[in-house]
Amino acid sequence: MEKKRIYLSCPTMHGEELEFIQEAFDTNWVAPLGPNVNELEKEVASYVGCKTAAALSAGTAAIHMALKLAGIKEGDIVFVSDLTFSATCNPICYEKSIPVFIDSERDTWNMDPAALEKAFKKYPNAKAVVCVHLYGTPAKLDELIAICEKHNVPLIEDAAESMSATYKGKQTGTFGKYGIFSFNGNKIITSSGGGMLVSDDEEGIAKARFLSTQARDAARHYQHSHIGYNYRMSNIVAGIARGQMLHLEEHKAIKKKIYEEYKNAFADIEEITMNPLNPDGDANCWLSCMTLSEGCDVTPNQIMDALEAENIESRPIWKPMHLQPVFEGYDFISAVDGEVSVGEDIFNRGLCLPSDIKNTPEDMQHIINIVRGFFK
Ligand SMILES: *Cc1c(COP(=O)(O)O)cnc(C)c1O
Repeated sequence: MEKKRIYLSCPTMHGEELEFIQEAFDTNWVAPLGPNVNELEKEVASYVGCKTAAALSAGTAAIHMALKLAGIKEGDIVFVSDLTFSATCNPICYEKSIPVFIDSERDTWNMDPAALEKAFKKYPNAKAVVCVHLYGTPAKLDELIAICEKHNVPLIEDAAESMSATYKGKQTGTFGKYGIFSFNGNKIITSSGGGMLVSDDEEGIAKARFLSTQARDAARHYQHSHIGYNYRMSNIVAGIARGQMLHLEEHKAIKKKIYEEYKNAFADIEEITMNPLNPDGDANCWLSCMTLSEGCDVTPNQIMDALEAENIESRPIWKPMHLQPVFEGYDFISAVDGEVSVGEDIFNRGLCLPSDIKNTPEDMQHIINIVRGFFK
């Protein structure tokens, strides 16, 4: 018999999701938009502590809208985290603007303020900064914001992975001019697919809603003065997200427990270091990751293969953007010249451990035993 699959991070439904969907069916408000969408926007804005939010079809769509609201145009330079998922930077290319990738620092694995400062020296006319909170660990926001303010450019926070994580007591996604969350299937909560743009800029969010519903001017006849998008969330999808919002804190608590469990289990193994957490923040520990020490005989691939042989899902660290064939032509700025960059080093030596909140104590022990088996 095939062994039960243990997942990296997959959807966990609770039942309330169905009630919100049922309500939508009962009132025939399946689409367009509808009460679940309006309520979800209010609930997310209130949860994170910002004025307003726009529910969209994906986190990627939310990043795209944030760039439009920031006035990013063809040829504009946008500084963006290098160690991330490609969705962080793809929307920069949708707008024919130019991504410049910024290396990570070692303390949180996020955008290195020193590299960002260096990037502004080379490109003083850059128009925006997009930073990620990788694997749910908040970036060094104070430092990044100080640099953005000094150069008078807006910060866009890609908080797709960090929903519910805080920095100095405040939710990630609410520090920049715009923040985005994702409800994709692998994230800490999911709507089956969707995203949210959040901001205190009420006018901007209203504009995002307008642009993401095909940019129809306020006229009875179909009149358009802007290029529009079909980026809005459906009332059914929003119902799932509303049910999930009720369990966000609970998911976070379990994710944090998983991280602690791995950390304790590997504490005596010199070769293993867990992904760093920002001491100024409270990470949501979306994915627990580990790195192997330099010169270690064991490779991340060996560990991933051993886990897969037991039907356990794990993943490499995101491959840095400046190493991606599709972004070959773009610049990359690192604070460490002439050495392997920080992001590439983490990629080379790291992997993401199964972090699904449905992992049982037996599942965790099984995973831990396999990893520990390499260091006997
Ligand atoms: C998942 C993810 C996104 C994209 O969100 P979607 O809702 O899947 O479009 C963007 N950035 C990061 C860092 C992500 O992990």
